[in-house]
Amino acid sequence: MEPFKAVWITRDEETKKQHPAEVVEISLDDLMEGDVTLKVEHSTVNFKDGLAITGKSPVVRRFPMIPGIDASGEVVASDNPDFAIGDKVVLNGWGVGETHMGGYAGYARLKGDWLIHKPHGLTGAQCMAIGTAGYTAMLCVMALERHGINPDRGPILVTGAAGGVGSVAIALLGKLGYHVIASTGRASEQGYLKDLGAAEIIDRNELSEPGRPLGKERWAGAVDAVGSTTLANVLAQTQYGGAVAACGLAQGLDLPATVMPFILRGVSLLGVDSVMAPKSIRVEAYERLASDLDQDKLQALSKTIGFDDIIQTATDIMDGKVRGRVVIEM
Ligand code: NDP
Repeated sequence: MEPFKAVWITRDEETKKQHPAEVVEISLDDLMEGDVTLKVEHSTVNFKDGLAITGKSPVVRRFPMIPGIDASGEVVASDNPDFAIGDKVVLNGWGVGETHMGGYAGYARLKGDWLIHKPHGLTGAQCMAIGTAGYTAMLCVMALERHGINPDRGPILVTGAAGGVGSVAIALLGKLGYHVIASTGRASEQGYLKDLGAAEIIDRNELSEPGRPLGKERWAGAVDAVGSTTLANVLAQTQYGGAVAACGLAQGLDLPATVMPFILRGVSLLGVDSVMAPKSIRVEAYERLASDLDQDKLQALSKTIGFDDIIQTATDIMDGKVRGRVVIEM
């Protein structure tokens, strides 16, 4: 088989520091073990891919590494009974792009247990427009629903609104009939956020500085992609009996909060992880995405780039310059 392109991350074995990511040509022999080989047709750039490529956080824990936590494409070889040559599949997470070579290459060799069949009603490109960020937004909405949150309970806040998780969460919640409050640092994106489904926009500075342990009750629930002081303030302003789905750390991984929202208002903090989520939950999330995410909005919140733009886009997402979602056409 012809060599194919891959984004390649190595490190200095003495200092343990990552070298800048580069594009190289490799062959199937360079890939790691797995029972399904996939011709990658689309991938995407998530916040975690930005962390991996820039080395800003120790996301990559095996070298050399091909980053890319998501991929969609066609099975070209399989020893797994669940997948046959020609099947269209989707991968999100499972440590791919961190400890197992990932989606930023012409081919990926993976464990079949990590894959799901491409959901009906979505193309491979749309699955990557959703990607880990969008599927996590769906997991957050499902977590709020399981807690009994519905549009009649009151507004839902979405933090990190113009980012990937935030944009998909707004589109989903808007379609489901919620009054969505979008918190963003990008005033210039007000029109974009309203078109996606936000009813109100607030400046993220309102939430990013240390605040009081309890504030005015402003929302019944929240999808928080930001963490840190923002999450503490979100909890402090959640209505009695409400819930906050926490999935991200764009501001920081700390949580300088008090127990007051929990013990005086019965507020719940719902943790959301996409990486190790079991297959049944992934399938359910994608079924919901196929039915509850407006495809015109998905198109509006995503843009397409080529393979050679991956490294620059990964830097841009770290600088807060990427709006919504990015699809990579391999
Ligand atoms: P993006 O970079 O697309 O979006 C993050 C957004 O957060 C930015 O667009 C910005 O929104 C806001 N933001 C950035 N920096 C700050 C800051 N210092 N203070 C406050 N807000 C800030 O990333 P994703 O949407 O892909 O991911 C969001 C978070 O969710 C990340 O931390 C990621 O690691 C996490 N995540 C977790 C998953 C899980 O399984 N738990 C899965 C997927 C993502 P704006 O410009 O509107 O202010």
